[in-house]
Amino acid sequence: MPILSRRAFLAQSGSCAAHLALAAAVMPRTARVLWARNPHAHVVASEPFGNLEKVSDGVWALISTPLTGDRTTLSNGGIIAGRNAVLAIEGFNQPQGASWLAGKARELTGRWPTHVVLTHYHADHANGVAGYLGESQHPSVRATERTRALVVERNRPADESRTAALHDAVLLSPTDASSLDLGGRTVRIIPRVGHTESDVSLELDDPSVVFCGDLFWNAMFPNFVDAIPTKLATSVRALRRTRDTVYVPGHGAIGRVSDYDRYASMLDEVERAARRAHAANMSAADAGKDFHLPPTLGDWVMFSPQFYQRAFEAWYKELGPA
Ligand SMILES: [Zn+2]
Repeated sequence: MPILSRRAFLAQSGSCAAHLALAAAVMPRTARVLWARNPHAHVVASEPFGNLEKVSDGVWALISTPLTGDRTTLSNGGIIAGRNAVLAIEGFNQPQGASWLAGKARELTGRWPTHVVLTHYHADHANGVAGYLGESQHPSVRATERTRALVVERNRPADESRTAALHDAVLLSPTDASSLDLGGRTVRIIPRVGHTESDVSLELDDPSVVFCGDLFWNAMFPNFVDAIPTKLATSVRALRRTRDTVYVPGHGAIGRVSDYDRYASMLDEVERAARRAHAANMSAADAGKDFHLPPTLGDWVMFSPQFYQRAFEAWYKELGPA
């Protein structure tokens, strides 16, 4: 695919991961294998666009694997069930993705989702949210006010049913954590910043599971298009737990602590390089071209060499002009 048309597509889509499906065709085989691998979880449903994996009793993660060009879902998400209520995480790229997950929730728990939370505004996480709503289904949708506004203002193509689905959303505080009692299971919803200006994580203590949204990309170099890198670094440190934890990333396979720490080290490496290049008055474009992750950090799926430049640009925005 010519670079220009891919860039035009990305500009139009407002998505942090729309490039995934486009890049899949040129992705090295080893990376595809890495992405699709499921070392930790039991797959309960499999579709061309992803696998639903059981993380624990009452907890499932949808790991999107858009390797075939099927764009129903591009981001990860999940289901958390309690005795009285069922939470669906993310609205996905298309309404069919949300309604598919909701149908699986009903098969697995006996209930259509009663609650939905969006982790941030990006199209691949939010654009399909109307798929949860039907004539008899009206789950309570939760998002921060900023996330809701950005979905409506920026995400394309504009869609009335999406706007309507968000109209009555319960607004999450941008500063204070809240919790959702599902019946014998409480999910904490914690406002964070860094991948975008408004992210939330969804966290369970027992079992120890963190749905990270796009604050964590497992073995994939993240998109810094809206990133605030110093705040991203702070959020990534805050999400890290000292005990054995399942980290569900926004993109990539389910992670354990070693995956999470490798990601944090990779972000540190980008920070060091950005600060060095900035101090040397290099342009973000030149610094991005010169940059390589050290082999000690392992393999990272890179969708475009421009992703490095985008990371440097995000750092320069915070550090001031070079
Ligand atoms: Zn994103």
